[in-house]
Amino acid sequence: MKKTVRDIDVKGKKVIVRCDFNVPQDKEGKITDDIRITSALPTIRYLVEQGAKVILMSHLGRPEGEANMKYTLKPVADRLSELLGRRVLFLSVPEVINEEVSKAATELAEGEVMLLENVRFRKEETKNGAEFSKELAGLADIFVNDAFGTAHRAHSSTAGVADYLSAVSGFLIEKEVKFLGNAVESPERPFVAIMGGAKVADKILVIESLLEKVDTLIIGGGMAFTFLKSKGYEIGKSILDAERVNLAADLIKKAEAKGVKIVLPVDVVAAKEFSNDTETKEFDADSIPQEWMGLDVGNKTIALFREELKNAKTVIWNGPVGAFEMSNFAKGTIEVAKALADSSAVTIIGGGDSAAAVEQFGLADKMTHISTGGGASLEFLEGKELPGIAVLQNK
Ligand code: AMP
Repeated sequence: MKKTVRDIDVKGKKVIVRCDFNVPQDKEGKITDDIRITSALPTIRYLVEQGAKVILMSHLGRPEGEANMKYTLKPVADRLSELLGRRVLFLSVPEVINEEVSKAATELAEGEVMLLENVRFRKEETKNGAEFSKELAGLADIFVNDAFGTAHRAHSSTAGVADYLSAVSGFLIEKEVKFLGNAVESPERPFVAIMGGAKVADKILVIESLLEKVDTLIIGGGMAFTFLKSKGYEIGKSILDAERVNLAADLIKKAEAKGVKIVLPVDVVAAKEFSNDTETKEFDADSIPQEWMGLDVGNKTIALFREELKNAKTVIWNGPVGAFEMSNFAKGTIEVAKALADSSAVTIIGGGDSAAAVEQFGLADKMTHISTGGGASLEFLEGKELPGIAVLQNK
């Protein structure tokens, strides 16, 4: 167990907090979804109430080590100030830290909040450069990591800074570790995982690791076709990872040997093009004609997935089961989301597309936990120790 802000005395201390304020923005820079900011509020509010001097830092987008004002954190400072109902001091300097910034940090009063400029304006950030880590650490007495979304990266602001300061977790990382950790370490059974999305390569390690833990593994989305192909099925021109067909066959065998049930689509909604404005047809999953591609699971599969989910006590879901961005191929993903919303199981949504889908369908508040980190939650489920968590003090 990692120490959290609750386990240390922060009153009067300068506390530098890594948040994940990597929010989506429209062309004018307006924030289109502030869930990443609201997710950070519990830790920030706690530190303010306890009389800490709060220095926040985050990255936004990929400025690639240059001070590109397209990626300034100014809109985040403004939104955060509105949400907190208090001033958030924001000094936008290209080098992130200079004398003025250091002076402002030193002069913070208890309960005051400041936000640094985008840490990725500095080249050293993503290389975990010691100089920049030291500069960040030089602003504060304590480091708090609350950026789960970047905890799988060893960067100056997520890991390096902990070489120079005592480091604890914020409430968001605590919550993520609790839900994701409990689900994989001591799940209530039956434990079902639903894996979807397009790329087998991204998820193969998670599947391998989950095979050690789950009772049932449901595979949908584009990656299901590599598994269907490995069974010798005709998959038409559905997306295929030809290099991993043998691996898929091995995983099916491994699952059988372990007594884990693998559930694959039995029918699909297909089109001749990857487009919403084209004819669609349903086919059985073992006989998709050559010029057709499966873009969603079919009705028989939806019923099958529902049946598998009916008695589940713990469910982890990562990746859409169809090309849900196109309305003609969204039904399977909507039905999976609904089945989870109706379920009394502990339901955990890995970040990324499945989290976006659940939000889009208005079902977010029906889930037990929606992870704020796509890549980070996958690496966590693979059983890897995330660098941004590894550096935190143990209880
Ligand atoms: P990933 O990044 O691997 O989680 O993949 C997410 C993407 O998979 C989404 O953008 C979906 O549109 C896409 N996807 C899901 N099912 C299919 C499919 N059957 N064929 C092609 N793409 C799909």
